[in-house]
Amino acid sequence: MIKSEDFFNVFSILIPVRYLHLFDPWSFPLCTCPKKYSVDPYTGCAHRCVYCYITSYIPQPYNVRPKKDFLRMFERDIKKAKEKLPVSMSNSSDPYPPIETELMLTRGALRILRTHDFPVLMLTKSDMVARDKDILSQMRAYVSITVTSLELDYLLEPGAPSAEKRLSAMEKLVEKGISVGARIDPLIPTVNDSERSLKKLVMELASIGVSQITASTYKSRPDNFRRVIAAFPGSAEKLKEIYLKQGEIVRGTRYAPSSMRWKMLIKVRKLADRYEIPFAVCREGLDLNTALTCDGSHLVTSHKRYSER
Ligand code: SF4
Repeated sequence: MIKSEDFFNVFSILIPVRYLHLFDPWSFPLCTCPKKYSVDPYTGCAHRCVYCYITSYIPQPYNVRPKKDFLRMFERDIKKAKEKLPVSMSNSSDPYPPIETELMLTRGALRILRTHDFPVLMLTKSDMVARDKDILSQMRAYVSITVTSLELDYLLEPGAPSAEKRLSAMEKLVEKGISVGARIDPLIPTVNDSERSLKKLVMELASIGVSQITASTYKSRPDNFRRVIAAFPGSAEKLKEIYLKQGEIVRGTRYAPSSMRWKMLIKVRKLADRYEIPFAVCREGLDLNTALTCDGSHLVTSHKRYSER
């Protein structure tokens, strides 16, 4: 019987494996990210967010496993990289799953990036990121921590550290002088988009001193839609109406109608404006941004505006 390890070895001889990729190789039409690299030290994610989209394309999505020979291969990729672009970590998993405490692949990757002077854009839902504040404070780093709700975090992201812990990690990073942003992503209509909850959340973020807020609405795919309505049965009928009847399809993903997305996002934008926090939306195609880039790239590099990409 062929073991998966043998398959990996044969496969990597035929097609050399690379762990550093250009972000968004499929050029999603509504993506406004500046050019950057992407890397995932792990495959799979333990946070089990109900709205997660990796479940539609990654086998055993909640079983976290390290990428084979990750640090050696990643350093090789970094040395071969043609441009010194920001490296986004991670987009198809979280860089801080529980096994990171032992394996330290993300910490190792940060050391490599610091050595080779690459800017990093961290993207996580784990407070473990605060562990690496010593390295992050010595490099060009922007840490984006997702908080979708202060009240419903245990239902939206059942395997992730609590929203409270994530806010506390933000505080620790800000204290170290690291640029920290918050992602309020996704906003799910009738679930976590109430004015009252968002007000409370943005007020907390303002008191911590975040450099940016990026928000995005829920995009539905069949498997995550089933999980969302199972987690929030009281919203099921409304969500079916919004996504299955009125919604728009962009590249196989169902969006809520643009007027509804605008209403949800403008609420956050107005709250961010109140505290003078730069704001951006992600993959919405709506003109609501006050921040120079959606992903914080401008905070770690000399940026280009969207129109100059
Ligand atoms: S953190 Fe991201 S990759 Fe992990 S389960 Fe949640 S949505 Fe999926």
